[in-house]
Amino acid sequence: MTLLQTRNLTKSFGGLVAVDTVEIEVEENELVSVIGPNGAGKSTLINLITGMLTPTDGDVLYRDTNLAGKDPYEITQLGIGRSFQTASIFPELTVQDNVDVASFAAEQGSFTVNFLRRRDRYDSVRQRTADALELVDLEDEADVPAASLPYGDKRRLEVAIGLATDPDLLFMDEPTAGMSPAETEMTTNLIERMQTERGMTIVLVEHDMDIVFDVSDKILVLHRGEIIADGTPDEIRNDETVRSAYLGGEEI
Ligand code: ADP
Ligand code: MG
Repeated sequence: MTLLQTRNLTKSFGGLVAVDTVEIEVEENELVSVIGPNGAGKSTLINLITGMLTPTDGDVLYRDTNLAGKDPYEITQLGIGRSFQTASIFPELTVQDNVDVASFAAEQGSFTVNFLRRRDRYDSVRQRTADALELVDLEDEADVPAASLPYGDKRRLEVAIGLATDPDLLFMDEPTAGMSPAETEMTTNLIERMQTERGMTIVLVEHDMDIVFDVSDKILVLHRGEIIADGTPDEIRNDETVRSAYLGGEEI
């Protein structure tokens, strides 16, 4: 089943067309990577779909809903999450408290009718947090102040914050940027488990081509705001347009 579809999606910043009539389709439980050089429009594309930016033109269809014009909060409520590139962590709070904040916000959406049943709400907030921390493997760090985590753990905490809303579709923008090889491997493993163990659909922007070709079901290549190729890792690896425009003819 097609979970997400964009039609004619376009974003202009003044004279610059950062995302140019982009049409993509993401199937349920697929892991789709978006690759392309710096400035290609990858982050803008994610920002358009998650409501951080308003499209200049075009539509974003998620299940039966058109997301165009919805704000990020509404989009989160529909089951779309994202892990943020910039710090979304409260450094002085513990790991647990950081995720609780997100879990609590998520529960407010689903518990408005039951708002008097406070005990239930408290339990389900705790459950959301426990599930998220377990998936990113930070249960043992629950009581540690976020500020004292190593860099890779901080990034996984950001993922846990994104997971607290229990999204069906998760966007990750350069999740391994700045990570050591060991941290990168942990994160790659986490991405694969979110897809296989939790059945999530994932859209990944990632500059490390080894990871992209390893984990993706489908790869979309953005170049100057336009999709110039899409296909399986094998198809993209052998695509002449991609090689000359982006991969510079290198062996990958
Ligand atoms: P990528 O994530 O692929 O590196 P971006 O989506 O960040 O690329 O940027 C695509 C283009 O849009 C770049 O030329 C960038 O400078 C421009 N751009 C991105 N955001 C803005 C903005 N808020 N205002 C003006 N130009 C922007
Ligand atoms: Mg970017």
